[in-house]
Amino acid sequence: MGGHEIQRCTFPTVRKYGLKVARIGALLFVSAGILGCTDARAQTAGQEQYVSPWRTPWTYEGAAHWSDLDREYAPCNIGKEQSPIDIRNPEKANLPALQFESTTLPLKYVINNRHTIRVDYRPGNGNFLLAEGKRYELTQFHFHHPSEEYIQGKSYEMEVHLMYKTDDGKVAGVTVFVRPGGANLTVQTVWDHMPQTEGHQEVHGVEISPGGLLPRNIAAYYLYMGSLTAPPCTEGITWFVLKTPIEMSVEQVEAFAKLYPNDARPLQPLHGRVVKESR
Ligand SMILES: [Zn+2]
Repeated sequence: MGGHEIQRCTFPTVRKYGLKVARIGALLFVSAGILGCTDARAQTAGQEQYVSPWRTPWTYEGAAHWSDLDREYAPCNIGKEQSPIDIRNPEKANLPALQFESTTLPLKYVINNRHTIRVDYRPGNGNFLLAEGKRYELTQFHFHHPSEEYIQGKSYEMEVHLMYKTDDGKVAGVTVFVRPGGANLTVQTVWDHMPQTEGHQEVHGVEISPGGLLPRNIAAYYLYMGSLTAPPCTEGITWFVLKTPIEMSVEQVEAFAKLYPNDARPLQPLHGRVVKESR
């Protein structure tokens, strides 16, 4: 959920802007979701403005009827490859090793989009996931409480979704489960600047690396085809669900849960999909 909305924009100015950003170097940036157009306009005006990423508001309580809210949300209730799922009886397979390239960058903004806390990344940020011969670049990460994905009928305390995209628009999501334990420093940096209400908070003089949200063991994972877990529930997303959780302190989990006691979409039917599991 939480806005893994896909970046879409047809304005030529955005393309130009993207290249400029890439040249300047990897700028970590936050934008409003349908990233690109609104950003470019705001930027030319000299300031960033928060814009809700959703055309039509929605709630988790109404998850069974998201399709009724907006024509764009049709896949949510009629799609056959929806996420999240309960991972049971996966098929063992020789899955390729995942490779993450993480870069430390200035944290510019933290977003509260009314459904999660999120940090966005602009094109050219230098954070990559290499998987199945594809090179995906990080677009954003955000959090769920409790976890959306289940393993053998069990959820985790929280989960992080890191969303990636290839140059030709293929989207992949990485799920990192969270269990209570030691504090996570990267999470703390984000929490320290977390807006308490919808909007975004500007940050100065702070750097983070998304690598701080990954477990040490990235070799063990599940793979399946699914969707965004928030409207518009777009399908064709490759999900890599890491088996090894990271830890957050009880205080960190509570700080998020205070804002979002439940930002997890209900489990979706498999409809014959096969989940693969690394050997
Ligand atoms: Zn999510």
